[in-house]
Amino acid sequence: MRGCILVLDAQDLRVRMASAAAPALLGYRQAELASLTLHDLVPALSAPAWQRRARRMAARAAVATGFRRRVRRRNGSEFPAEIRLQLAGADGTLFASIDPPFGNRDARPYEAALLRSVINTAPDAILTIDVKGRVGTFSPAAERMFGYAASEVTGRNVNMLMPEPYRSQHDGYLARYLTTGEKRIIGIGRTVTARHKDGHTFPIELAVGEVRVADSHMFTGFIRDISERVAAHERGVKLQQELSHVGRLSAMGEVASMIVHELNQPLTAIANFGEAARRLIESGGDPARAASFMEKAVAQAHRASEMIRRLRSFVSRGPTEREPIAVNEVVRDAARLALIGAADQQIHTRFELAEGLPEVTADRIQVQQVVVNLIRNGIDAMIEAGAGAGTGGEEPPLVVATGRAPDGAILVSVTDSGPGIAPEIAGGLFTPFVTTKPTGMGIGLSISRSIIEAHGGRIWCEPRPEGGTRFTFTLPLAAYGAGP
Ligand code: ADP
Repeated sequence: MRGCILVLDAQDLRVRMASAAAPALLGYRQAELASLTLHDLVPALSAPAWQRRARRMAARAAVATGFRRRVRRRNGSEFPAEIRLQLAGADGTLFASIDPPFGNRDARPYEAALLRSVINTAPDAILTIDVKGRVGTFSPAAERMFGYAASEVTGRNVNMLMPEPYRSQHDGYLARYLTTGEKRIIGIGRTVTARHKDGHTFPIELAVGEVRVADSHMFTGFIRDISERVAAHERGVKLQQELSHVGRLSAMGEVASMIVHELNQPLTAIANFGEAARRLIESGGDPARAASFMEKAVAQAHRASEMIRRLRSFVSRGPTEREPIAVNEVVRDAARLALIGAADQQIHTRFELAEGLPEVTADRIQVQQVVVNLIRNGIDAMIEAGAGAGTGGEEPPLVVATGRAPDGAILVSVTDSGPGIAPEIAGGLFTPFVTTKPTGMGIGLSISRSIIEAHGGRIWCEPRPEGGTRFTFTLPLAAYGAGP
């Protein structure tokens, strides 16, 4: 004879559903079963008897109970059976399985077996506690996660699995919930910190359910260790910071070689002005003239130290820092850095900076880096096209402009009169390591794009009809991707 399963109301034991094997076992038709309570089938088990048992279960934080009782069929005949009752959910559902003692083992209650298998194999740790916070069930995954054997935890206060200050607060939470019904975590699920047997703490995602029987409660906890996820996130953030640092460093590599070269200029000038002043003084010349030479030497020394200061701030490391910035100011700073030596190459620069631009929230150093990259590329292109010392006449300028896009975003563009983008790389312009320059790294534009996109903007380039290229990027006014 096969056993059967009934789904009951946990309060009054009324039958809500019966498995297909129930009519054969109990002698009732399916439709008739729905008008019964478990008491009609198992006379020894009245609703009050069940509620007493449920309270005892709750005290042990158990979800299932089993016993042997006689079961009465419709025709009044009785048979002994193994009866197993199992709380199935917070909605007050009770599963009852009724198995004749010599019933087929395979017909044992599916739900009970399922629950056992879930508890034993779920990757998430599962535990139950009673109203006093004492642990009932402690699943194998919980043993692995917390380092305790179930026997070390069951019957003890669940707060042993928490670090301070939660450890001291937990009893209070539980008591407050039981008296006020104020839910801090039940049914919500939260990320909290757990404590391993060896004392280390780790982040977990905790979902708490509630099983309520008669006037007792117990709680089920599903716990997922999210250390990996948190660590991966932290690695990602760190990597990003490092990448932007690397970006600055490699851009610095280019800038540094220029600066080493360019520092010669002020140094030579300082030496020349100093020498001239010395001669004048020695020959009893006009002291005012000598003083003006000295003044020029001092100015050149300032210029040299300014170059070094800018280089240093350009690569100075730090997490990306968003703050309201005046784009024109950042563009001018960047241009000063990028244009070192451009005058020597007789490359003229024109600024067309729009007035009255609102500030945008952005990382000043990163935006500066993008502008430096674009201007350096423009200068390289114009030198390649033959602009430079000795060609004579007024060269067409490099234009650095700012303005507003139709959607209100800030626009920054750098327009050169170089040869245009080489067709063989046009498709991969913003991808790393694409370069046509013998000493180029091919990462300037790809870093520029990631910076601009991280700010919620766009960067693109277009050929100019009269020759040359215009690179433009946008910075939206609203902070984007910035931290809270
Ligand atoms: P790199 O300057 O190290 O080559 P970039 O990412 O800055 O790396 O640029 C990649 C390539 O794009 C350059 O090598 C060059 O061929 C092309 N390019 C960039 N800007 C311009 C420009 N203004 N005019 C023509 N070609 C350009």
